Amino acid sequence: MAAVKACKILITGANRGLGLEMVKQLSEHSCQKHHIFATCRDPDGQKSETLRELVKKHPSVITIIRLDADDPCSIKESAKKVGSLVGKNGLNLLVNNAGIVANGTILTSRVEDMKNTFNTNVIGPLLIIREYLPILQTAAKASGTPGMSCNKAAVINISTVAGSMTRMPTIYNQFPTLPYAVSKAGFNMLTVLAAEELKANEILCMALHPGWVKTELGGEEAALEPKESVEGMLRVIGSLTEKQHGGFLDYTGETVTW
Ligand code: NDP
Repeated sequence: MAAVKACKILITGANRGLGLEMVKQLSEHSCQKHHIFATCRDPDGQKSETLRELVKKHPSVITIIRLDADDPCSIKESAKKVGSLVGKNGLNLLVNNAGIVANGTILTSRVEDMKNTFNTNVIGPLLIIREYLPILQTAAKASGTPGMSCNKAAVINISTVAGSMTRMPTIYNQFPTLPYAVSKAGFNMLTVLAAEELKANEILCMALHPGWVKTELGGEEAALEPKESVEGMLRVIGSLTEKQHGGFLDYTGETVTW
C-alpha cells in the first residue's frame, strides 16, 4: 500500500476525484505522525460533503483548508494557516492536483477556456509553490538527512500525457482538448523550472501522470478506477529519490517522454 511516510502533506483539489481518493488512502494507511491538509475551494459547499464525512472518520489526521487556485489571496492565506499549523517541522509533501479541462481545437478553442485553463493549471500551481516554499524549506532543513525524497520535502505536480509534446499528437484525435493540453504543457515546463530552482534546497519536484481515470474530468469511458490510479501514484511518490527530480513518470512508475 501507500509507501508515503511523509508527515505533513498538502493536497489541492481534495474534495473530489483523484485528490479526494488520495486523502482517503493516505488517511486509512496513515502512520502516527501523518497529517493531511486537504484543500478545496469551497470547504462548506455541497461538493465537499464527502471530504467532510472523511474528516469525521479521521478528525486528528485531516484538516480541511480553503484554497482556490484561481485566487492569489486564498493561496497566500492558506499558506499562512498551514505554516502556523506545521510549525518548526514544515511541510513535507505538496501535491498540486487541482486542475480543469476544456475541449477545443485550433478552430474551436475559446479564448476564455485558454485563459481559464492557464489560470488554474499553471498560474495557480506557480503561486502555490511560491507561497509554500518557506515551509517546504523548513521541512527540508528539519529532516537532517541528505538527498531528496517525499518524506523530506517534495512538490508533486499531477500532470498528464496530454501536456507531452511527444504523446499528445498521437491521442489528439481521441482527445481534442487543446486548451487543456497547452496549459498542461506549460505546467510541465513549470515543473522543470521549479525543479531547477528547488534543487539547491534539496526539495524534490517532478510531474506525475495518473493514467486515464474515471472522474468528472476523466469521464466514464476512462480505463482506470481512482483507487488503482492513486494506489499506483502513492507507490511511485513513496519511492522517489533525487534520480527522479525534474522528471515525468506515470502512475506505474514508467517514464513519460516530455
Ligand atoms: P476532477 O474534475 O474529478 O477534480 C478536479 C479537482 O480540482 C476538484 O477537486 C476541483 O474542485 C479542483 N479544482 C478545480 N479548479 C480549482 C481551483 N480553481 N482551485 C482549487 N481547486 C480546483 O479531476 P481529476 O481528479 O480527474 O483530476 C485531478 C488532476 O489529475 C488534474 O490536475 C488533472 O489534470 C489530472 N489528470 C486527470 C486525468 C483523468 O483521467 N482523470 C488524466 C490525467 C491527468 P471543485 O469541486 O471546487 O471544482
